[in-house]
Amino acid sequence: MQNSKNEQLIDPPFEIQGSEQEKNRIVNMINQIAISETGKQTLEIASNAGYKLGMEFIFGCNGACSKEKKIIVLNPVSKDDVLIGVLAHETRHAGQFERGEYDASDDKRPRNETLKSNIMRTRAVEADAQATAVQILGEMMENGNEKPLIEFCRQPDNQFIGKAFSNALYEEGALYNGSARTAAFLAWYENKPIMKAYDQAYQVDMMEHREESGANKVDTYKKIETPEKIVKDLCLDNKGECYFKANPEVLGQGKFVEVDYEIQEKLDALMQRVPNNQTKLNAMKNLKSVGR
Ligand SMILES: [Zn+2]
Repeated sequence: MQNSKNEQLIDPPFEIQGSEQEKNRIVNMINQIAISETGKQTLEIASNAGYKLGMEFIFGCNGACSKEKKIIVLNPVSKDDVLIGVLAHETRHAGQFERGEYDASDDKRPRNETLKSNIMRTRAVEADAQATAVQILGEMMENGNEKPLIEFCRQPDNQFIGKAFSNALYEEGALYNGSARTAAFLAWYENKPIMKAYDQAYQVDMMEHREESGANKVDTYKKIETPEKIVKDLCLDNKGECYFKANPEVLGQGKFVEVDYEIQEKLDALMQRVPNNQTKLNAMKNLKSVGR
């Protein structure tokens, strides 16, 4: 029989895999997150969609969300106050997938959008997941549980987001009117090494895999997606309204689309090798639009 310690304060509860101790850790995290309205809703969207939770050692990474397997895993090595932010981030990804977002780490997915569209979209997916995580931690703080937010902000990778979010909170109402969450979203782009790692994984690696398997023959790199559409698809608050308070156009300009030099060289080489001529033409246009 389950004791009350194992009861999840969300509906429906998650199926959790692993040892009794791991289950207890995860339930405890869920119940802390559930005091935040955004957190509760984010968790319930994922549990309702059938995502399972578990723990798994992942090298150099705190967590992951698989769209195909519908599972979210957390790295047991990290402490729970850190993993709470990670769980919030990964369950947001589950929600994005439920709303139709593609899995950027799926190399079977044809690359029909322009390179710039791909880069804008995959970056915004991560920025929204982090902005949502810190929003949830901010709401937890408002409800008296400030440790997970402090731990989030202390993580070296999160410092830009942590500072931008905390600064934004000095303004009255910023936690609930979307402006702190927007500040966190925009600050995601300040961390160049993280952005480079995602561009490598979601652009270069995917294109290399598709080249190796010959799947790149069907790639067109043609469809243009606007920043407005990306923001409209991704930046949804609890009421399904857009929380993004800045001009979406900024996401198509300057540092928001600039690519690290090494990544740019790899993309250049990959685009030069695309199989058919029409695509090559699109590809070259694409590279110009991305810029260094
Ligand atoms: Zn992520």
